[in-house]
Amino acid sequence: MRLLSPKRYIARVDLIDLDELWSRGKRAILLDRDNTLVPRDAERAPEAVAAWLDRARIMGFKLCMVSNNWHRDQVARSAGELGLEFISHAMKPAPFALHAGLKRLGATADTSVLIGDQLYTDVWGGNFAGIDTILVKPQATADLWYTQIFRVFERRALADLPCEGEE
Ligand SMILES: [Mg+2]
Repeated sequence: MRLLSPKRYIARVDLIDLDELWSRGKRAILLDRDNTLVPRDAERAPEAVAAWLDRARIMGFKLCMVSNNWHRDQVARSAGELGLEFISHAMKPAPFALHAGLKRLGATADTSVLIGDQLYTDVWGGNFAGIDTILVKPQATADLWYTQIFRVFERRALADLPCEGEE
C-alpha cells in the first residue's frame, strides 16, 4: 500500500545523509521523538543523534519534533535539550499536527521530510500529508503496549524491504 511505503528505510537517524537531503531540495525536517530520537527506555537522545541534529541546524535545516507522546513536559524537555521546535499530542497518522509543524517552520510539504520509527503513525501520517518519509529502526525494543501490537503487522509489512545501514 502506497501510504505505508516509506521513501527510505535506514537503520538510525544519524545515518541519514543530510547533504543528500539538502541536494534534493529538502529544507525542513519533522522528527518523531520516541524511539526515533530518544530511546523508549532512556531520558535523553544519544550523543550521535544530538550531533546529527546540530549539523542539520548548522546546514540551515528547520527542525520540529512532532510527537504523539501525551506527556508534554517530556516532549518539551527533549526538544529543549536538542534545540527543536515541538508539537506534542500529535495524533499521527492524522495529518493536522504535521501541517502545524510545517507551518511553525514556514515550510512546505514538498521541501520537507518526516523521520520516524513507526509505519502506522509516522509513515502513514507523513505520506497522507504529502511529505516524504524516512523510516528508521526503533532505538529500543521497549514500546507502549498498543505499539507492540502494531509492531507485529509492521514486521510483516517490512519483511521484504531492505534496511540501509543495518549492522
Ligand atoms: Mg516513535
